[in-house]
Amino acid sequence: VVRMRGIVKRFGGTTVLDGIDLDVHEGEVVTLIGPSGAGKSTLLRCVNGLERIDSGTIEVDGEQLSSTEKGLNHLRSRIGMVFQSFNLFPHMTVMDNLTVAQREVLGRSSDEARQRGAALLERVGLGNRADAYPDHLSGGQQQRVAIARALAMDPAVMLFDEPTSALDPELVGEVLDVMRTLADEGMTMMVVTHEMRFARRAADRVVLLADGGIAEQGPPEQVLDHPTSDRGRAFLQQLA
Ligand code: ATP
Ligand code: MG
Repeated sequence: VVRMRGIVKRFGGTTVLDGIDLDVHEGEVVTLIGPSGAGKSTLLRCVNGLERIDSGTIEVDGEQLSSTEKGLNHLRSRIGMVFQSFNLFPHMTVMDNLTVAQREVLGRSSDEARQRGAALLERVGLGNRADAYPDHLSGGQQQRVAIARALAMDPAVMLFDEPTSALDPELVGEVLDVMRTLADEGMTMMVVTHEMRFARRAADRVVLLADGGIAEQGPPEQVLDHPTSDRGRAFLQQLA
């Protein structure tokens, strides 16, 4: 679903991504791990066009990411993204958060958008909070709404950038449970996380980014328990 070739991204004189080749296949869950500053967030931001790449190509669903405004907007409507901070619209109810882009971007009717929104709220365990405003919800509930909002667009791929790292520890589980269910249902996902339990249980493949490149990749047990690169070993040792 996502195909990246030779991705180079620089900020000023610093090369943050130095020729990344990475494919994420239909239904695959890829977890990105690696030291702070390795470029994990930058890679996700390149995939949904929030950052421009300096060279290389990115295709989503066979369509090449183009830099024209129209191309980007179309592509973004195929990609769901959930960030660390809860970025719901604060002045809108949960239901309005879930329906606004369905109506304005996908052209769905109000009824259709609300039906889809209601079904997704049920799915993330918040069927009774449609009329609440975000600041009346816990961080974990807000993050589950953010996931439902992204799913409402029927994305080809879901990108998660440390979706649980701003949460109180007791709220992490409810968000990871929703993500695990999504993974089990076959959603294509790229997940940046420090939650190694999630990586172990839900990821088909773990990719360890370091120094602008992929230091290790493979099934979770292989990468997490038997890293072969110096960078991989150093990173995982420091987690233990
Ligand atoms: P973390 O685990 O801390 O979230 P990360 O792997 O997500 O780290 P990035 O946020 O992708 O790392 O950052 C990679 C590098 O790019 C860092 O050195 C960062 O300072 C730099 N960087 C990121 N965004 C910008 C920007 N907009 N302008 C300049 N430098 C940036
Ligand atoms: Mg980051």
